[in-house]
Amino acid sequence: MSPFWNRRTAGLSPYIPGEQPRDRRFIKLNTNENPYPPSPRVIEALERVLAGDSGGPRGGDLRLYPDPLCGEFREAAAAAFGVKPEQVFPGNGSDEVLGFAFGAFFESEPVLFPDITYSFYPVYAGLWGIPHRTVPLRDDFSIDLRDYLPSPQRGLPGGAVIPNPNAPTGRALAAGELARAAEALEKHNRVLIVDEAYAAFGAESLTSRINDHPNLLTVHTLSKAASLAGLRVGFAIGSEELIQGLFRVRDSFNSYTMDRLALAGGAAAVLDRAYYDGVNRRVIAVRERTAAALGVLGFEVVPSRANFLFIRHRGPAGNPGAALSGAALLAALRDRGILVRRFDQPRIADYLRVSVGTEEDMDAFLAACGEITGAPGGGGSRG
Ligand code: PMP
Repeated sequence: MSPFWNRRTAGLSPYIPGEQPRDRRFIKLNTNENPYPPSPRVIEALERVLAGDSGGPRGGDLRLYPDPLCGEFREAAAAAFGVKPEQVFPGNGSDEVLGFAFGAFFESEPVLFPDITYSFYPVYAGLWGIPHRTVPLRDDFSIDLRDYLPSPQRGLPGGAVIPNPNAPTGRALAAGELARAAEALEKHNRVLIVDEAYAAFGAESLTSRINDHPNLLTVHTLSKAASLAGLRVGFAIGSEELIQGLFRVRDSFNSYTMDRLALAGGAAAVLDRAYYDGVNRRVIAVRERTAAALGVLGFEVVPSRANFLFIRHRGPAGNPGAALSGAALLAALRDRGILVRRFDQPRIADYLRVSVGTEEDMDAFLAACGEITGAPGGGGSRG
């Protein structure tokens, strides 16, 4: 607390990002970064910016403000997703895009999202002073979309935010189900945001149906599927009226959220689908192999369509009392140089969210799990 903070600042509960250690080398499986490098075309695009396209000295273009309309990036994303550039809103990571969206579309009625989900959503609601209500996941961590629809008992929600796949569970919904929810909310002029941060790892995207639902906004990031968490590029796709709403909020805050490097590198990334399809097929293959091996080691593994696994130790069959707690596992992995993420929250405190790393990272992780749990057959062999 500080006497210099206003009441709003004092009342905030900010998001706590996963650790980015600087002191020691860890195998980082805690923030869902992609373990493979970005497309070479992205690097070339960044180098072109630094070389100074307009013929001046190296780096000279950085003297100039970037294009506030982000034309190059919006045209590239529009081409990649089969929409108009006017239907694309880019930002400094999808966190920023989501933050603007809360401010643009929700107000006095509670916005709905799952009780176990991306922990930034309640933070945005808090920042903008928007009421929110969390809807419990089913016991298997799946989302029941009926709970998000207007009904005489529940009344009219202010809107809904659904990540597909959900984080940190990794479970996905069928696009058709989400489309039906969008339709039900549209009748009441309510916006549905579908956060597709992890959709490229095996969920059905709703973006191809965007023109059927003027109230549907899909939110995307280049941080995971495009290996560019360090460049900070996210974007939303929706009807032109939703996109204009986002620009109204952005331009009341900062018209240059996308710098020249992010615009050029981001455009090259969204256009290089062939490269990223290859990278992400590999992430999916490593995920499936890791999930199977964890099952053998006595872990329960939630079915994942994302680049992470949500797991809990069960202990040997017939002896559930021997299960290790999430906190104990987290600490033991850390001692062995492996970072994963745990959320200290009801129902999931014994689960760990493990990002899918390289083949070698996951071998080391499995070997550590075998050692910690003392499971027969532990040791992380690839077979
Ligand atoms: N949505 C979800 C569900 C996420 O897990 C994340 C990453 N923490 C984001 C959005 C934000 O990603 P970024 O700001 O890096 O685009």
